[in-house]
Amino acid sequence: MSKELTLEDIQNFDGKYPKQLWYLFLVEMWERFCFYGMRGVLAIFMVDQLLLSDRDANLKYGAIQAFVYAFTFVGGIFADKFLGFKRSLIFGASMMLLGNGLIALSPHDYFYFGIALTIIGTGFFKPNISSMVGDLYREDDPRRDAGFGMFYSGINVGALLGGILCVYLGKNYSWNYAFAAAALVMLIGLIIFLATKRHIKPIGNSPLLHMPNATRIRTELFVYLAALASIPLIFMMINNTRYTDYFMYIIGPIALGYFFLQMKRESDSKARQQLMAALILILFSILFFAIFEQAGGSLALFANNNLHDNLLFFNIDPNVVNNGANSLFVIVFSPLLGLLWLAMARKKAEPNTVIKFALGFVFLGLAYYLFFGTRFFADAEGKTSLGVFTLAYLAVTIGELCLSPIGLSMITKLSPKRLGGMMMGLWFLASAYGQYVAGLLGAGMSSPDENATALDKLMAYTDGYQQLAIYSIVAAIILFALSPFIKRLMHGVR
Ligand code: GLN
Repeated sequence: MSKELTLEDIQNFDGKYPKQLWYLFLVEMWERFCFYGMRGVLAIFMVDQLLLSDRDANLKYGAIQAFVYAFTFVGGIFADKFLGFKRSLIFGASMMLLGNGLIALSPHDYFYFGIALTIIGTGFFKPNISSMVGDLYREDDPRRDAGFGMFYSGINVGALLGGILCVYLGKNYSWNYAFAAAALVMLIGLIIFLATKRHIKPIGNSPLLHMPNATRIRTELFVYLAALASIPLIFMMINNTRYTDYFMYIIGPIALGYFFLQMKRESDSKARQQLMAALILILFSILFFAIFEQAGGSLALFANNNLHDNLLFFNIDPNVVNNGANSLFVIVFSPLLGLLWLAMARKKAEPNTVIKFALGFVFLGLAYYLFFGTRFFADAEGKTSLGVFTLAYLAVTIGELCLSPIGLSMITKLSPKRLGGMMMGLWFLASAYGQYVAGLLGAGMSSPDENATALDKLMAYTDGYQQLAIYSIVAAIILFALSPFIKRLMHGVR
């Protein structure tokens, strides 16, 4: 009989990436395919089929986005305390599968119910797969950021394909097919995970393994039931978007309270300071995502109203660029940046996490100056250069790659084992707030006058983008200034 696979066997891998990374890469790729496929059709479906007004559809879309990421906090805690990462992932994937499958059966009848299941499912799935990637690496392994970079590429392959395929199916065939495709790819992801999980055997086990089987199973069932019991609540909150505001006011302070409670319980002062460093970086990520997520709101409108449709030598719908350029750039540049980090690490010249975060804001600021700069290329009708716009997306993406995969990696480095899931949940909860603030920023930017010309709109939006550029640069400066202090809190973690 072959000997049991140990954590050391996994972590002592040769080469650039552990082989288990590819399995998790594929599973996450299909999950993101499902997620972004569903997300891509959401607003159109609500307007077209549920006959919601644009405004209501937008509000609900925002609420769903916020909930999806907010539930990662709950999913992370439940994984730490009761299920472990693997069981959480299987439960989450099953919920996403079921949710999309139900909507596929009868989009009109099961829409909200299916979305509620997807919210719970993502909450259990998303943070926990990322935590497992972190467990593939020894604490001080310099290859971790590159691994997360590659994983992040997989995320975007899924996001791009899902966004294209599901919208195509929905618009040209039927909405049933669009949601059925989302369900089907989740099934593929789940099957791949079940088939490969023996290769990560020591990772992500239930924290309750020491309990008698019957007690453990009872506890797990209780968690599943509690998750399902929250469906009516979620259902109600996406139906009445006013509750979303209340929810967002409440969940953040609760999460912070819980975080500080757990931090206080930590007896080791080094671990406490590392948690503090993680929290500071998480708070910065809220601002990053608030600016970054203009993509789904104000930048989509800007692309619709103010851009020519010629890019280099061909014509293309500016909204296709707005929806696809980021993912394409991530797929190409994320592994490359990963290799750059590896090469720099070999020369002992790799910037540490705080500096990477600051660079993320520098590129974000540069990008928004470019969005602002489009106004100098505008014609009298208020239409401007798609080329400059695309270049800005390249800068956004480089910024994202300095911050988002690095953030995942940082969380796995700075969290004590018993809090890994919660901390990853907190990281994504910050994204929920980012989404939420993005909506507020976008709304503040749109020109108030219904009859505004395209040129007025161009001026209003680009004014806004200049503001956002300034915020980004200020954040970068603060991070550079704080970096010695945060580094000290990190105690040698790079
Ligand atoms: N685009 C990334 C993903 O889907 C990051 C999401 C986020 O943190 N807001 O995983």
